[in-house]
Amino acid sequence: MKKVAIVFNGGTISMKVDPRVQAAVPSLSGEEIVAMVTGIENYAYIESYNFSNVPSPFVTPNDMMKLSKYVKDLLDREDIDGVVVTHGTDSLEETAYLLDLTIQNDKPVVVTGAMRSSSELGYDGPANLSAATCTAISEEARGKGVLVCMNGELNSASEVTKANSMSLSAFKSPGFGPLGIVDNNQVIFYRDNLTRHHIDTNIVEAKVSLIKCVSGMDSRFIDFCIDQGDKGIIIEGMGRGNIPPKMVDGIKRALNKGIIVVLVSRCFEGRVLDTYGYNGGGKELRNLGVIFGDNLPGQKARIKLMLALGMTSNKEEIKEIFEKGLYNI
Ligand code: ASP
Repeated sequence: MKKVAIVFNGGTISMKVDPRVQAAVPSLSGEEIVAMVTGIENYAYIESYNFSNVPSPFVTPNDMMKLSKYVKDLLDREDIDGVVVTHGTDSLEETAYLLDLTIQNDKPVVVTGAMRSSSELGYDGPANLSAATCTAISEEARGKGVLVCMNGELNSASEVTKANSMSLSAFKSPGFGPLGIVDNNQVIFYRDNLTRHHIDTNIVEAKVSLIKCVSGMDSRFIDFCIDQGDKGIIIEGMGRGNIPPKMVDGIKRALNKGIIVVLVSRCFEGRVLDTYGYNGGGKELRNLGVIFGDNLPGQKARIKLMLALGMTSNKEEIKEIFEKGLYNI
């Protein structure tokens, strides 16, 4: 029988309602959660590791990098066939994406969590954990990169985002849909993800900020980032990748200081492109030297830029990391 390491990190999957605060807080250990996954011993040997026990808004990019090293060490063990990571769902996509970008190993790594705590009716933790474990022992899941397994669906960590604050099927891959499913403990893939990347670093550059564009916005937030000494700024622009004209001077000031500026869209689906030629349009931004971030949501583009800047400060190399195979470079 195959062996799976489950690395527990808190989140709703490990929470129950504390009667004093009348709200959910982390309290279950990994062993207590595994004990609720009845029958899992017929599928795999489980080894539980309690890496952390926090709500996922507490998790920092540095914690994610430490987790990546921890998972890599487990994957390097010959007796381990796959790793499951549990995580709070709020920042799950950021951790899963960082793991995906930094881990190069064909053994399955599957991230899961729960949308309902163990105090709620319909606690989905055990079902998600059993489906994630079935994925971790599946031959088909090898070489697919980090997978996110929630509600019987398998999404690529590089594509998935939390799209609903409460639904059990909260995790979606905008535009593409899941790679596969877990049905009756069987893992079935319907497609692959051909645009995955690896960034060879164990350093995260902390000074990267995310600015979401709204109507009438000016350059004040950009100037604040410049004053704070940021090394990178993600601009979540409008539509195809356009920003209000009063932000352009701020972008110019940031670029002149050598700050890397990456443009993505605040739209839920679709890529940014230099389609528009007006003041603040994608064409002007591209000509100024802004890097395009394809279809990434801002929070994931930030993780990617933190790693890219961890690896190099060379702008051309960073541009390649974001644009190679996606834009004409
Ligand atoms: N707020 C919780 C967290 O991210 C939600 C969850 O775990 O699903 O830790």
